[in-house]
Amino acid sequence: MFQKLQLLTIFLILGITVYAQDQYLTAKSEDIEKTYTSKSSYDVKEFPQKFRGDKPKNIILLIGDGMGVSQVFAGLTANKGHLFLENCKFIGFSKTQSADAYITDSAAGGTAISTGVKTYNGAIGVDVNKNPVKTILEEASENGLATGLVSTSAITHATPASFIAHQAGRGSYEDIAADFLKTNIDVFIGGGLDHFTKRADGRNLVEELKQKDYQVETELKKIKKINNGKLAGLTADVHNGRLSERGDMLPVATETALEILDNNKKGFFLMIEGSQIDWGGHAGSTIYVVEDMLDFDQVVGQALEFAAKDKKTLVLVTADHETGGMALTGGSIKDGMVKAAFPTGDHTSVMVPVFAYGPGAEEFIGIMENTDIHAKMKKLLLEK
Ligand code: MG
Ligand code: ZN
Repeated sequence: MFQKLQLLTIFLILGITVYAQDQYLTAKSEDIEKTYTSKSSYDVKEFPQKFRGDKPKNIILLIGDGMGVSQVFAGLTANKGHLFLENCKFIGFSKTQSADAYITDSAAGGTAISTGVKTYNGAIGVDVNKNPVKTILEEASENGLATGLVSTSAITHATPASFIAHQAGRGSYEDIAADFLKTNIDVFIGGGLDHFTKRADGRNLVEELKQKDYQVETELKKIKKINNGKLAGLTADVHNGRLSERGDMLPVATETALEILDNNKKGFFLMIEGSQIDWGGHAGSTIYVVEDMLDFDQVVGQALEFAAKDKKTLVLVTADHETGGMALTGGSIKDGMVKAAFPTGDHTSVMVPVFAYGPGAEEFIGIMENTDIHAKMKKLLLEK
């Protein structure tokens, strides 16, 4: 009996490890610390609140995966009192429950925002009956707008995938990659090269992308130079590394995507994901959460700067769910020090913030369902 139990325990641990590796990068043990102390902070600009018209020409949707109010405030504390996010004067909350669970995963959470439909955990752009549902990115593309996706995870991972692919399970990475070829997306930058080239079906999707007139690049310095045409930027075999490894991947990808998409006179839809705030929460690492939160906030700053100049761009910043039940148990804004505890290594059920800046921002106040975000974006961007 005892041996059986031991064997079962070993299988359980193995199972959990394999599952975890499939889902996200795990933090190194030395980084699983409860306290973050900032070595430097960045200046936060204040942008004017003056826009043209009451409906936006462009939408930039930024998703901080796993970003609840504690993650935001941890970032604010670490940056000594301010974040770019504070430029958003219209703020609401999103209820993240999925169709089959009180606690959502990123697939159902992403699909709710991208399609306006609540679905089961693990679903990518499909409803509870596994039927494909059109995403805001596909709807924008059909209306002649330019479209883009940027992510610090693999571009085939749940959050970006839910904006472009239609698969019954989030683990079908190769099928998700193939779904990119069925669309006219103008630019996508993230990891996931292996899912395009090392495939069970023998297809080489990089070659197929080139035949569809995509510039395909794997190096950030080459991606940086591109400012028109179609671009597939595949910056890692699977996931991009942590901030110390990936460097300015997210800001460079964001700048490049904005340059390419802004060529379209009709407007654009761009989703940018800060994927690894979630992974920091899963790891119970304050350092991991805060460094990715601050990287994400500076990219929010880039989006706001673009919108402030353009005056016709709506910037939305939200999350698919909270991760870790992060609790701030101590800290100092003056010193940029923050201490946190994580009661769970999983997602939690709490509402997550929705921040808005630009024409139509006032639509995003109050408590809403995550699916309402899709309805509001569609009304503002495509019903004119
Ligand atoms: Mg994600
Ligand atoms: Zn997660």
